[in-house]
Order: sequence, then C-alpha cells, then structure tokens
Amino acid sequence: MKKTKIFLVFVFLLMMPVLSLNNANATTLYRLPLASNPGYNAWFDHNASVGSELRYDCVTNFSYDNHHGTDFAASFGTSIYSGAAGSLYYRVDNCPDGSQPSCGSYYGNHVRLWHADGRVTIYAHMRQWTPIWYQSVLCGVYIGQSGNSGQSSGPHLHFELWQNTGIGTRLDFFGGNCNSPSYWVNQNGGWPTTQCQ
Ligand SMILES: [Zn+2]
Repeated sequence: MKKTKIFLVFVFLLMMPVLSLNNANATTLYRLPLASNPGYNAWFDHNASVGSELRYDCVTNFSYDNHHGTDFAASFGTSIYSGAAGSLYYRVDNCPDGSQPSCGSYYGNHVRLWHADGRVTIYAHMRQWTPIWYQSVLCGVYIGQSGNSGQSSGPHLHFELWQNTGIGTRLDFFGGNCNSPSYWVNQNGGWPTTQCQ
C-alpha cells in the first residue's frame, strides 16, 4: 500500500513540468465574435498570387482575391464581442461610415486585441464611435458595433487573425476538415459557436 502511494506521488511529480509547459504554450482559441452567425460574405484566400484564390470552405460561399480575414454578413449596428480574453492595444473610432476607404489603414474603425499566446485579433469596419476604450477584456465582452467604415462596400464584420502585433503573417481561423482543430474553440462544421475557451 505504502509503495503504491509513493509511486503515484513520483508519477505526479514527473508530470508537473509537462503540465505547466503545456499551459505556458497554450494556443488561444476564439469564439464567434457575434451573438449568432449571420452567414459569410467572404472567406480567407490562401493563394497569395494575384488573380487566383484558394479558400478553406465548410459552407459554400465566396472569397475575394487576397482577402486575409473572414467576412461575416453582420448588418449595420450589430453587436460585436471579443473572441477571447485580451488587451486592447490599438483602436480607431473616427472614420466616417462608408465614405473614406483608406481611413484606419483600410480597416476603418477597428479594435486590435492582443491575446495570451501573442496573436492578435482585428475587428474591422466598425460603426463610427462605437469601438470600446477598455484596455483589457474577457472573452465575449461587447467591443463595438458592425458598420461600413474603411475599405468596405456594405455593412459587415471583417474578422482577422495575426501571428503577432506586426502586420506580417495573417492566419485563417478555419482549419483542417470542417470539424477539425482550428483557431475556433468549436469550429462546428463551419459555423463557430459562442463557447469561450
Ligand atoms: Zn474582409
């Protein structure tokens, strides 16, 4: 009996560094940034060359050439929520709705959240004056409303994922087969859920 107990404690001690290492390197996963999924206007284009596109597609829809985010068909004034806990380190809120394409580096009014794993989410083309000021947010917090600011041809939410805080590598939230691991908490066959990590 005593030997078994000692053995179990030994095994637990062996596992501890592994457990803490996993926590430190955990990838941040995201919830749907809206209360419900209104459908897609466009997917991420995985083909970098101009004139051709390759999209990850669970639900048949469109992409634009060199489009580096997921466009949700959110109507004007739809509430947007943080995809995961993070720090707001950059924002623009004074772009007019639909009349100044280059405003906010083409993202228009937008919020950039920096997450625990170093990646960044962008919520673009928001309605004027609606992006929040809070410096840190939990997952699922209201951060503004959808709009038509910046380079946008109609109200929608452009949701984008960066490898880090510089605009270098941009990632697709979707991955694998339709229900395979991706940057969504639950990819749900192409219809991500509001479940937080
Ligand atoms: Zn877009």
